[in-house]
Amino acid sequence: MKVFTTAVELRHYLEEQRTLGKKIGFVPTMGALHDGHISLVQQCLSTVEDMVCVASIFVNPTQFNDKKDYEKYPITIDQDLEMLLKAGCEVVFLPSVDEIYPNGLQTDIAVDLGFLGTTLEAAHRPGHFQGVVQVVKILLDKVQPDFLFLGQKDYQQCMVITRLVEAFNMPVEIVICPTKREVSGLAMSSRNRRLSDQETALATNLSKILFEIKKNYKREMPKEWVVYGIQFLKGFPEISLEYLSVVDGKTLQEIQDWQDTKNAVALIAAKIGTVRLIDNLTIY
Ligand code: AMP
Repeated sequence: MKVFTTAVELRHYLEEQRTLGKKIGFVPTMGALHDGHISLVQQCLSTVEDMVCVASIFVNPTQFNDKKDYEKYPITIDQDLEMLLKAGCEVVFLPSVDEIYPNGLQTDIAVDLGFLGTTLEAAHRPGHFQGVVQVVKILLDKVQPDFLFLGQKDYQQCMVITRLVEAFNMPVEIVICPTKREVSGLAMSSRNRRLSDQETALATNLSKILFEIKKNYKREMPKEWVVYGIQFLKGFPEISLEYLSVVDGKTLQEIQDWQDTKNAVALIAAKIGTVRLIDNLTIY
């Protein structure tokens, strides 16, 4: 497995691979890898023959609206490299902050996100998606992949990155991969490492609500499910709910009636103690 810290070395290697007829698949991450990330690598390697899988590990400072969250973001590089090697990843890009932002922490890449840029995550994490757009554009320019692998776990982020790719007409195919979960239903997340055992048990209530909505959705209208979820979580004072929303999966507009859409998605964000978690589930 090749590990590159500079874009020049990375580009040189990938150009060689391209001349050999290889396709480039890219899995951007912030490290502290878990099986969810590895499932993206596996999907990458099984998408086409002759794929070179490039994973990046970069904790992007511009996408953290909360400085403490950035400072406490888990870093486990040695373990990450071992997991990537075992999964068959061929290339890792491990840039420094200066490599990505040689002119300081800019967020000058502008994409009109419309409603995507004001709702749900955008409303609760001001500036977050500007930072995501910035880093993903920089990384895509450096890697120039044929395929980009993203996790549905970050539903709105997948939509934002799709918008970015369209806005710049980038010749890359986006593949959205299903959310990997613990046996308990808890969505895997690097931030789960920061939860105590008791908090981990509490955190399973987030996915519990989503699965309950999916299983029984016809019993109630979307709004009633939201009220139910809010009430249910009030029973756990350690959980501070930021939003629970049932939306059209293409627009993120809230739906009033199940008949309003062919693709309904429930999304949730909450803090368990100081750790902020998100999850979502396609209802149909
Ligand atoms: P992160 O390191 O959290 O920025 O995530 C890197 C990529 O892995 C993103 O495309 C995420 O959506 C994806 N990802 C994170 N958690 C999961 C999960 N539990 N299952 C599948 N993909 C995930």
